Amino acid sequence: MAKAKIAVNGYGTIGKRVADAVQAQDDMEIIGISKTKPNYEAAVAHQLGYDIYAPAANLEAFEKAGMPAAGSIEEMVEKADVVVDCTPGGIGKSNKALYEEAGVKAIWQGGEDHELAGYSFNAVSNYEGALGLDFVRVVSCNTTGLCRVIYPIDKAFGVKKVRVTLARRATDPNDIKKGPINAIVPDPIKLPSHHGPDVKTVIPHINITSAAMKIPTTLMHLHTVNMDLKNECTAEDVRKVLGSQSRVRFVGQGISSTAEIIEVARDIKRPRNDMWENCVWQDSVTMHEGELYFFQAIHQESIVVPENVDAIRAMMELESDGAKSILKTNKAIGL
Ligand code: NAD
Repeated sequence: MAKAKIAVNGYGTIGKRVADAVQAQDDMEIIGISKTKPNYEAAVAHQLGYDIYAPAANLEAFEKAGMPAAGSIEEMVEKADVVVDCTPGGIGKSNKALYEEAGVKAIWQGGEDHELAGYSFNAVSNYEGALGLDFVRVVSCNTTGLCRVIYPIDKAFGVKKVRVTLARRATDPNDIKKGPINAIVPDPIKLPSHHGPDVKTVIPHINITSAAMKIPTTLMHLHTVNMDLKNECTAEDVRKVLGSQSRVRFVGQGISSTAEIIEVARDIKRPRNDMWENCVWQDSVTMHEGELYFFQAIHQESIVVPENVDAIRAMMELESDGAKSILKTNKAIGL
């Protein structure tokens, strides 16, 4: 069978990872990536052998920089079956008309509103609902991390209420412009934060509320998760459920921080030290007066990457069973 043709519009933190993960699959391939300027990231994409597409007005600049573009972004979109839009949050919506005109399917990321695509996706929670859809939004790193644990725990024990506090990394490691570098910033101060409501775009019946703050780190987010459960269970029962999830990794063995998790990712030779799984501290899983508590760390740069691959597979109907797609994606990228 011919491979599905995938274009990545916006080759930044998420886009470059999605491109490599798609290229690792046997049922889809990258036909092009887009960059606005011929900078160092474009040079790397060129070295990696990706066809680069650029805004028509900037094609000459790419030629001059020694990395001739294969065409305009519009031309790239025309050639694709699915465009994965990884432009910065808020920019993606302006591309919708372009995708509609070209008659291509499109995936947006968590920085866009749910309404833009009309379907918010997380592979373990609602893969099957995305079968054949034209537009899908892969939810943000934090929402993905929450859905991956809430969905199976709700299925096993029933969730009455979730409360989560998110300590968010200030920005990504390559970003020299944002902070804070010496402060803890409640963000937003008005509660709840958008993260809880965003989980409901994927699993609407979950009762959830959230608070978030930004902290001076770039490595990962850290969630303190508290769930009021319907059915009685022990911490061991919960560990069994979480342990059965291929995209949840237990951490222990002296790992006491996000820094050590990233060190593990480096040591196991993950590309770009990516940790695609939720990292749950096994010893933190606690039941207290019928309520569940645990800590999990989320690698913001990479957690949504396998979800984008699964979303493509569902939209192109390359696999009707979400569990099978998850395993296929995992195997191809080495998860
Ligand atoms: P980024 O800034 O790292 O990358 C965006 C890329 O798009 C850059 O290469 C930029 O040059 C390019 N770009 C800008 N305008 C463009 C245009 N008009 N056409 C084509 N390319 C354009 O951003 P990111 O962190 O990769 O975020 C992308 C999306 O993923 C956002 O919706 C964001 O909310 C979401 N997301 C980000 C993270 C994260 O932690 N970085 C995690 C999950 C989801």
